[in-house]
Amino acid sequence: MGNGWDGKSGGSERLKALSALEADPGPLSPGIPDRMKRVLTELQDYHFDDVLLLQEPPDHLPCLWKQVIEQLRRSGMRVHDPEKTERCTPEKFLIEGSNEFVLGTECARFLSAGDNRRTAIICEGNSSVLDGALQRSGIGRLNFAEKSRWRESLQILPLWLDTLWKPFNPQRFLELLLLPLTPIPDILAEKLTKALQKEPGHGGEAWNEAWESVKRVFGKDGKTDSRNPEFKKVADVWTMLENNCFRAEKETPAESIAAHCDFLIKRLADLNIEQHRGLALVVEHTRTLKKIVAGRDRIRQMELARMLDSIISTGTTGNQEGQDRTDFAVFTNPGMIERDFDTVLWWNFVDTGATNNTNWTADEISVMPGYDRVAARKLENLSWHNALNHARKNIIFFVPLMMNGEEAFPHPFKDELGIPDEEIIKQEKLTDSEGKWNLAGRSLALEKQPLFEPAVRTGIEANAIRPTYRLSYSQMKTLISCPFQWFLQNYLDLKAPPAMNVPTGPQMLGTLAHKVIEEIYEGKETLTVEEAVRDAETKFDQLLPSMAAELMPDARSVERKRIRTTLVDAVKVLVEEINRRNLFVRGNEKKLQGTFDGLDFIGYSDIYLEDADGNKFVIDMKWSTSSHYKKLIDDNKALQLATYSWLLDSDDLDVRCAYFLFPRKQLVSAAGTDWTELWNNARKAWEQRFSEIHSGELARGIEEESDLRNSTSALPLTAECAFCDYAAICAITED
Ligand code: SF4
Repeated sequence: MGNGWDGKSGGSERLKALSALEADPGPLSPGIPDRMKRVLTELQDYHFDDVLLLQEPPDHLPCLWKQVIEQLRRSGMRVHDPEKTERCTPEKFLIEGSNEFVLGTECARFLSAGDNRRTAIICEGNSSVLDGALQRSGIGRLNFAEKSRWRESLQILPLWLDTLWKPFNPQRFLELLLLPLTPIPDILAEKLTKALQKEPGHGGEAWNEAWESVKRVFGKDGKTDSRNPEFKKVADVWTMLENNCFRAEKETPAESIAAHCDFLIKRLADLNIEQHRGLALVVEHTRTLKKIVAGRDRIRQMELARMLDSIISTGTTGNQEGQDRTDFAVFTNPGMIERDFDTVLWWNFVDTGATNNTNWTADEISVMPGYDRVAARKLENLSWHNALNHARKNIIFFVPLMMNGEEAFPHPFKDELGIPDEEIIKQEKLTDSEGKWNLAGRSLALEKQPLFEPAVRTGIEANAIRPTYRLSYSQMKTLISCPFQWFLQNYLDLKAPPAMNVPTGPQMLGTLAHKVIEEIYEGKETLTVEEAVRDAETKFDQLLPSMAAELMPDARSVERKRIRTTLVDAVKVLVEEINRRNLFVRGNEKKLQGTFDGLDFIGYSDIYLEDADGNKFVIDMKWSTSSHYKKLIDDNKALQLATYSWLLDSDDLDVRCAYFLFPRKQLVSAAGTDWTELWNNARKAWEQRFSEIHSGELARGIEEESDLRNSTSALPLTAECAFCDYAAICAITED
């Protein structure tokens, strides 16, 4: 529309799609061209007796602006073309720095080293890094932020409205729970987050347990104080989640959307809007949505998404309250400078890719009478020269080589400046060896800052490093395969932050499969294959919404069916194997306990079985297609199975153990595996690792099997670097 298109013409698929959108009376807010057209019509009814002095030649202006100016002229306004003024020829300084942070300091130094009343700064886009430097130097902040629809506060409404729909989306609900300001009370959000980590679904055991544990928090002597106002707030949200959420399928009555909006507004009021200004906008958006749906009958899910899009639009620039008064002038675009300054500073002089030009085909251009790409380019170029033309003495360009961790591209105007490479100033050269800082006639004597030295140096004596709490197979494996990881994870207890993602893929399916087996054997020691298959089918269908809700949408029905078949077939094979060996299931997730190195050692066997003579058997279940487990058994390195064996029979380790791989429908075991030898090797490797640590060596693990050949460990195990939470620290500190 901005190029003079009438919103209808044109035969290309793109223009047809745009025409359909234009013709749709949906609740979209008018764009800038729409609004300009309305202004144009209105202008015809007015007469003006004013003077309009143009900054740019009218030929370069976008087509609708030309029409507005033409209309103003017809309505009596005296329109003057830009005046020819004397051009400034400033001295140019191009300062190159590795990133915005180092340049921010230089820019702040320049501003603090002189009088800024005749200084201007151009800052297109985000000023947060510069603001940090300015604030540290006691100079006012610009506080420019780019508009974003992804600000956290703007996520509240869409995520809350997602709770209307089924199937339950665990990932989206987790995002709602983890927002810094969430309508879900903190205590409930914390418990539900944990529940989703355990069972990524809605309405299951973990979900209901979350509520029970909230009640316990507000309880005393086993009774919940339901009159406690804080508990009432939490209970209101729980009741809402239980009775009014995750129910609608594809469409819902408009009143239920309005009720959802009312509930959110009430919850946001509890969050203290005065203190969190961003919430006021969320309330405004929620009220707008209520108005849009008022009087409607039913709303489709897609329709609601479009309404939200239109309301949230391009988002917000966030809290701009921190904008300070400055003694220098600030411009967000070089074309905006309208008077002369002694010095112009151009912050972040890089190509931001902001020029948004669509590539139209010749046919499309034929229906856009105002399309003029050359004029748009000329206008942009003119704005760059405008900065030069208003800098009487100096113009300083700050050029970061990296921004947000990515390489920054040179500003397209850089070539035109004609600054030879040898005259480009490296930021570190602004300060000489005496600490004298100099730029464009301003100077400072920098004080040498003492290097930070902690008042007290602490250290960890290698001899003091020991396991600090109860042991497990995974701790033992971590220590043997990578002492560095063990040190961070088990000794320093450096834990990864609460997971941002709910379990998915093999991890989720493994938990589901475990639960199915646990439930079909609930209260039974043996099952026929037919019973097992029938019960597994029923349990899969029952448990899916609470334990693997991501598979519920229709779009994943084929995958869901395939997984169901895999799981049921695997259960059939597993039960056949159990029955063939005449084994009885004597426990699921059975807790096993022993003492190792003076500490408690705990393990949980997935399925614990015995035969009629009391011989023991443990099956560890995995959702994996990998041949890794077979190899572990073949190489006599299946430490997990040896651990079960030791926990159940610490003298003789006479326990049969196997892995069961669901997707392969395969029991992986080997007759005659010597658990005693493996366990003794593990014990020795454990001692070797501590003796290394006590001599001051904290070894890194070895990831590649082939590199283990030279290992002197009694049990050489590969480290799982690909799944390690400490990989970044490991890489940084390796040397
Ligand atoms: S990345 Fe590998 S070597 Fe490094 S700490 Fe993790 S497991 Fe150990």
